[in-house]
Amino acid sequence: MTRTVIDGAYVATVDGEGTELASGYVVIRDARIEAVGAGRAPSEVIDGAREVIPGEGLLVTPGLVNTHHHLYQWLTRGYAQDSILFDWLVSLYPAWSRIDADLVGDGALGAMAVLARSGCSTVGDHHYVFPQGGGDIVGSIVDAAQTLGVRLHATRGSMDLGASDGGLPPDFAVETTAAALEASAAAVHRYDDPSFDSMVRVAIAPCSPFSVTADLLRESAALARDLGVRLHTHGAETVEEEAFCRERFGMSPTDYLESVGWIGDDVWMAHCVHLSAGDIARFAASGTGVAHCPSSNARLAAGIAPVRDMLRAGVPVGLGVDGAASNESGQLGTEVRAAVLAARLRDGADALSGRDALRVATMGGARVLGRQDEIGSVEPGKLADLALWRVDGVEHAGIADPVAALALGAMPPLARLIVQGETVVDDGELTRADSGDVARRVARASAALAERL
Ligand SMILES: [Zn+2]
Repeated sequence: MTRTVIDGAYVATVDGEGTELASGYVVIRDARIEAVGAGRAPSEVIDGAREVIPGEGLLVTPGLVNTHHHLYQWLTRGYAQDSILFDWLVSLYPAWSRIDADLVGDGALGAMAVLARSGCSTVGDHHYVFPQGGGDIVGSIVDAAQTLGVRLHATRGSMDLGASDGGLPPDFAVETTAAALEASAAAVHRYDDPSFDSMVRVAIAPCSPFSVTADLLRESAALARDLGVRLHTHGAETVEEEAFCRERFGMSPTDYLESVGWIGDDVWMAHCVHLSAGDIARFAASGTGVAHCPSSNARLAAGIAPVRDMLRAGVPVGLGVDGAASNESGQLGTEVRAAVLAARLRDGADALSGRDALRVATMGGARVLGRQDEIGSVEPGKLADLALWRVDGVEHAGIADPVAALALGAMPPLARLIVQGETVVDDGELTRADSGDVARRVARASAALAERL
């Protein structure tokens, strides 16, 4: 048994009451949070602790939860800089269809390193490009997460609707329906760990209404429910997707996805920018989750998701960076502020507070991934996933509210990222890998992929 104590920090617990401790302590015992309290830690706890972290100048929050990404896109940053979604996809499919497990592993390492260094302890990924002969891509993503020590929600995604059948992706980028289903089941059997303190979960994730057949959506939903895992896809991202669904299926993206079984508390969808009031009510009533990706939506000019209305209706909403090809930042800490600003541009000053945005980035994401009992808040019994932000530097010293340092200010330096009770980022640097080495691997892999074009 080992104990670590954070003593005398500003603690934003994000518990049900939104408890904040201006000076508080957190006791970590092995992988879990043992105690949280106001004031200084009791001396009997300090005595015998493996480590006591002085909390002065620190803001402690739950580790941030990323609910949508495409880690492999770390290798295709800076392409198609001024395109909307469909044109951007068409210009990137040729590069993406030349990836393999080795390249994806390097890209995932880079993307997850940046997430970890921006306060993210749980990484949700959506991988849907599986070239023939590309090797064990899901396995390479799992390996990268284990190298860095972050919690992973991988997905086995898919595309089976090529251009010759009326889909958006070129035929060379898609699989057959049967192959996608078989590989999805295999990935769940091989890598999904359903236990309480699981470091790797796997969901099933056909890509989008314009790249997947109705059969694959329907059968993926049945398969996931049979295996007891979650379902993820993109939904209602752009007006062009809306037009595609109306023309091809005679209904909106949400009506279409519902018609193939994709509404429920085991489903989360990325974006949901273009939801009607009726759609929001159905998401809320069913517990269908949303991965809100404000920077990616801005980069591709997709619009601003109705986060205020979704939260007021009770829709589970988490935060996502989305793939780095549409959000070259790849940082999750900065998305907290982006979410506040985007919501206010759309719906006014009371659309989203800084604290609401922190809740979306933590408990919201935990709920979207089905982990609300395990992560997302700083409470006894939960897993010890914590971000310790330094708020006494020149950017934040003297700020009236430490939570505003994160939600409205520059992203604070990360003093620590603790995952499962272990420090994986210390003073801004990875503890289990060398960031210079990761950068060199990413550069080499990006160049190798570009050369294949
Ligand atoms: Zn996406």
